[in-house]
Amino acid sequence: METSEKEQAKDGAKTNGDAAAAPSKEAHPHRDSGKAIVSMQGVSKTFYRGKEPVPVLDNLDLEIAEGAFEALMGPSGSGKSTLLNLIAGLDRPTRGQARVAGSNLTDMNDAELAKFRSRTIGFIFQQYNLMPVLTALENVELPLLLTKLSGSERKKRAQTALRVVGLENRMTHYPRQLSGGQEQRVAIARAIVNDPTIIVADEPTGDLDRKNADEILSLLEKLNTEFKKTIVMVTHDPAAAERATVTRRLDKGALT
Ligand code: ADP
Ligand code: MG
Repeated sequence: METSEKEQAKDGAKTNGDAAAAPSKEAHPHRDSGKAIVSMQGVSKTFYRGKEPVPVLDNLDLEIAEGAFEALMGPSGSGKSTLLNLIAGLDRPTRGQARVAGSNLTDMNDAELAKFRSRTIGFIFQQYNLMPVLTALENVELPLLLTKLSGSERKKRAQTALRVVGLENRMTHYPRQLSGGQEQRVAIARAIVNDPTIIVADEPTGDLDRKNADEILSLLEKLNTEFKKTIVMVTHDPAAAERATVTRRLDKGALT
């Protein structure tokens, strides 16, 4: 623990408290604004395997306050990723209303959803999903290729994002030349380079050892407290959920 604390202090990823006394919900009651940035009413999601319906989410109501850092827990197959994908506009509900950051996602077509995602959402995945043939800097620049920014402006923003995650000295490295924790930090830089309102993270520490997981969690905490990002994180890790301001549980398609 001590080594990891030192590391975190050194690269500035640590912002408040220490891991041994992980901040509880009560420690920062005013972190969220009280305004709902995600609002779901009567949301259901059913997949189809051939003609056979696979109901996954059943009539969910969910409000997430702007500025919150939420952890979503629950058994495997309970629909956590499905719910996260609905929040992120990667998919549409079968039924019900989903409003996220002022947009009504239920009524959007694919092009509108893509635009919504590129402006509003930053994604972080368990397996980083970096492009192996691109450097850290090029990976982080990728989301900006969809914008009208000039090449030099794109580079500048990607460099800034890599500095935020403490990887200014790894910009020209390829993913295979980085540790898992560093790869996830590149992925986080890629997620924030568009300055999204909401960060969604699907088991972001699932492939990391404790020390690297704690560093990634400290970084997410910093994005929440300093950069005011709303974060929705799916996790199995109780230590990860401890960092969040709110923990929800999903079981058999229902929030408990
Ligand atoms: P979790 O993330 O909680 O493990 P998921 O949301 O990934 O759960 O999946 C919940 C259920 O929905 C699973 O039974 C899974 O097989 C099913 N499912 C998820 N995505 C699809 C899809 N695209 N097509 C069919 N079934 C799916
Ligand atoms: Mg999942």
